[in-house]
Amino acid sequence: MADSLVKNILRTLAQQQRPATVAREPAQSSAVDQTMSQPAPTRITQAATAELSGYPPVDRWQHWTEYDPKAWPQKISRSYTLVPTICFNCESACGLLAYVDTSTLKIQKFEGNPLHPGSRGRNCAKGPATLNQVYDPDRILYPLKRVGRRGEGKWKRVSWDEALDDIAARIRRVIVEKRLTEVIYHVGRPGHDGIMEWVLPAWGVDAHNSHTNVCSSSARCGQALWMGYDRPSPDHAHARVILLISSHLETGHYFNPHAQRIMEGKMAGAKLIVFDTRLSNTASLADEWIAPWPGSETAILLAIARHLIVTKKYDRTFVRRWVNWEEYLRHEHPDLPLRFETFEAKLEELYARYTFEFAAQESGVSVEQIAQVADYIAQCDGRLATHTWRSATSANLGGWMVARCLWFLNVLTGSIGKEGGTSANVWDKWVPRHPNMAPHVKVWNELTWPQEYPLSFYELSYLLPHFLKEQRGKIDVYFTRVYNPLWTNPDGMSWMEVLTDESKIGLHVHLSPGWSETGLFADYILPMGHGAERHDMMSQETHGGCWIAFRQPVIREALRRLGRPVDDTRKANPGEVWEETEFWIELSWRIDPDGSLGIRKTFESPYRPGEKITVDELYGWMFENHVPGLPEAAAKEGLTPLEYMRRYGAFEIRKGVQPTYDQPLAESEVEGVTVDPETRVVYTKKPAAPSSNITPVPYFQPDPERGRPIGVQLEDGSLVSGFPTPSRKLEFYSATMRDWGWPEYAIPTYVHSHVHPSKIDRERNEAILLSTFRLPTLIHTRSGNAKWLYEISHKNPVWIHPSDAQRLGVQTGDLIKVVTSIGYFVDRVWVTEGIRPGVIACSHHLGRWRLREDEGGKLSTALVELAPAGESRWQMRQVHGIKPYASADPDTERIWWEDAGVHQNLTFAVQPDPVSGMHCWHQKVRLERAGPDDRYGDIFVDTRRAHEVYREWLAMTRPASQVSPNGLRRPHWWLRPFRPDLEAYHLPGRHPGNGHIAVHAVSASDHME
Ligand code: SF4
Repeated sequence: MADSLVKNILRTLAQQQRPATVAREPAQSSAVDQTMSQPAPTRITQAATAELSGYPPVDRWQHWTEYDPKAWPQKISRSYTLVPTICFNCESACGLLAYVDTSTLKIQKFEGNPLHPGSRGRNCAKGPATLNQVYDPDRILYPLKRVGRRGEGKWKRVSWDEALDDIAARIRRVIVEKRLTEVIYHVGRPGHDGIMEWVLPAWGVDAHNSHTNVCSSSARCGQALWMGYDRPSPDHAHARVILLISSHLETGHYFNPHAQRIMEGKMAGAKLIVFDTRLSNTASLADEWIAPWPGSETAILLAIARHLIVTKKYDRTFVRRWVNWEEYLRHEHPDLPLRFETFEAKLEELYARYTFEFAAQESGVSVEQIAQVADYIAQCDGRLATHTWRSATSANLGGWMVARCLWFLNVLTGSIGKEGGTSANVWDKWVPRHPNMAPHVKVWNELTWPQEYPLSFYELSYLLPHFLKEQRGKIDVYFTRVYNPLWTNPDGMSWMEVLTDESKIGLHVHLSPGWSETGLFADYILPMGHGAERHDMMSQETHGGCWIAFRQPVIREALRRLGRPVDDTRKANPGEVWEETEFWIELSWRIDPDGSLGIRKTFESPYRPGEKITVDELYGWMFENHVPGLPEAAAKEGLTPLEYMRRYGAFEIRKGVQPTYDQPLAESEVEGVTVDPETRVVYTKKPAAPSSNITPVPYFQPDPERGRPIGVQLEDGSLVSGFPTPSRKLEFYSATMRDWGWPEYAIPTYVHSHVHPSKIDRERNEAILLSTFRLPTLIHTRSGNAKWLYEISHKNPVWIHPSDAQRLGVQTGDLIKVVTSIGYFVDRVWVTEGIRPGVIACSHHLGRWRLREDEGGKLSTALVELAPAGESRWQMRQVHGIKPYASADPDTERIWWEDAGVHQNLTFAVQPDPVSGMHCWHQKVRLERAGPDDRYGDIFVDTRRAHEVYREWLAMTRPASQVSPNGLRRPHWWLRPFRPDLEAYHLPGRHPGNGHIAVHAVSASDHME
């Protein structure tokens, strides 16, 4: 039964692969020609053979005709212009094709763009649901300014000019008064590449704050420790073994582009191995579903590594050539011969304790299954495609070690930068340089980069409320941009407390396409466009290849094609919805209207000196100058690069895997270099040429005497670029960890998670809550109010194993109280064998709420009462769920569901990993049957307790002021977005190069006493 289900799914997926090729066949005619003009019986036959396998041919995108399906059985033709854009509903950046009705200028539907190299014409449900978002009857169409107290729910409509002038004047004051850490721009998933790297440094502020530390910091940290680059790019389609620590087929990172290639790999014979404690859809399709005790993943990965080592089934040539084993021996065993064989012997010793039996004991997975998986990997022949994002890496104390040990398997099998293996993201991603880029800023923001986390991967964004409560600083202008920290982050009530305190946050500007819980506590809500209403450029490492895609406001492009061009995206969008590219240019211009602050020059046209750049000039300039191959491809069709991107929406820069680490240094680079006699690192004194591809890579400050490291000399004498690590090799041994306070983690090892079995007492009904799993159809706030998506998914019950349900005396549908360290939530249970005993799970994509009946998306939120329940305590209760209502969309009166889910994240304390800074999402909880006073959706939180838990985790850190070996805040080579100038890296009162504090200065760590 299960087998035939799998075969059916595979067959369906195989059929879905055909369109991309068929679509380009010139002989294929439109749906109108092929289907609707024939008698009914014939139509059915032809539709089955032709219509289902085609996209409209590209040469007819400008003028496309098909019958209106709603007019059936009448044959009413509709004319469309098909405009490519890219989806904004997750980070995958899949291509969309908007069908714009040329008579009404309405978007009829979205389909996939078959020319997009990442998504190849396919989308998940969230792509076509962009239509719901554009025509959402509850959306905010005009700038709003609060008129009551913050959070009181009183708004007035204001003009864009009023909002821009007010915000610009305030930012200008901050800059003029040199309060350069008092502007913060807090972004959710960016959905664009490079633009804020262009804008924020021009203002001279260290303002960037991402969501990365509630998402991917640990995965990045583990991978960067090995290779300098912080993200993988697996070539699933050509792999022999695919190892996923996440549920990529339905929800994992680069979900749709990865999913289709994982299935291609599987159909070509690859073994699919999935680590997931919960039976995800992906796990159900795996050859081996590994369901470990949460946090034990590293033990299994190290047992597999040991198996490869002791059976000598690793790629000796690759390891010898590319791993920094000499550095390891030199530092840890200076008395032993500096020979590869010595290292091999040491490897056996180091990993001797990670037997299959040890891993089985830690994880609860059988010895036989671990051995089977190890055997598959041993036979991968250099074609092991791996990926982890969120999942175990984002959930556990030491989660970064999961990513590090996963990459260890790629290293041992030599599966790096090879077809069917795994590459670094930088090799497969392209971010063109923007014009007039400002230099690095000379300021460091300790509200986002506190001294306690010298090795954090990205900003400690979710600790901001605690930092503000500790009076480490204050914020004058705070942007939240397509981000909803009050709802998405842990500990949302602490966010609400600081958002309502104007002494901590002076002005809160919320940029969003729709209502959000955070927006309720803003001073301005500025309506921003969805995926069909804005310009952006994106590139993602979706497979072995490299591409760039263009998001565009589709009505604006349709108007241009119709000979009615507009010069401002607001003129094409609903209401006064804007796009961010134009917004940031205009805001920056108003901050520095006369150019006296030096900001304006960044935003001047490269074509019209002294004039404000237009959005067409910005993207046109980048496409002309910094996308390899695009100008030539455009010229072949008689188009400019911008016209090419408007027409096709994407450009394939390169097919296939192409690593750079083994590239010989160019002759021009080799001239005058020096090679360090011990490390074999190659240095040059020549300055680096600015790169066209500004995808973030580690940066090495030039050594005053030797210059810049640019490569490494291998054993055979060749000079190659290597990896951007201090050793220029893959770093099995991290001198960075050793030198920055964590010598015990200098090599890949096993870290006990905060939810290790020894810390969970099941007799007391303690359990682990897996809170991070996604639903395929929703994505945090961004999918809010998309009616098709909420009709499909509107519940997030607590998954519980039958044995636990029996012990607690609950059945499916009963209420359960899940008690966390700072409060509790009440939800229904779903009893299922799809979860391990002792573990429960609840999706974090539901539980949206609003405080007032008419303020917020009614399709996706419950109306709640939120009230204080004593000092620092908050109680939330649902008044009602989702109900039918009258609106411009008749569908809202047809709503049949009531559930809006339960918001669990409010009840989670922050749990920052002391190394990566990642919030460790797994929760140790206690389960109780709900009492007579408990109701579905009830939430209780104590924010004083939340602050205590924050301090407990903070106490685990090893601050830069104590461990920095060179007086810097963090290793200069360690990736940091929006990297300031080296000058800003110096710890207060410490001089570069010395290892002690010269002057005691007030700093973030002083507030910890
Ligand atoms: S995976 Fe779905 S939501 Fe994400 S970009 Fe692709 S179509 Fe959009």
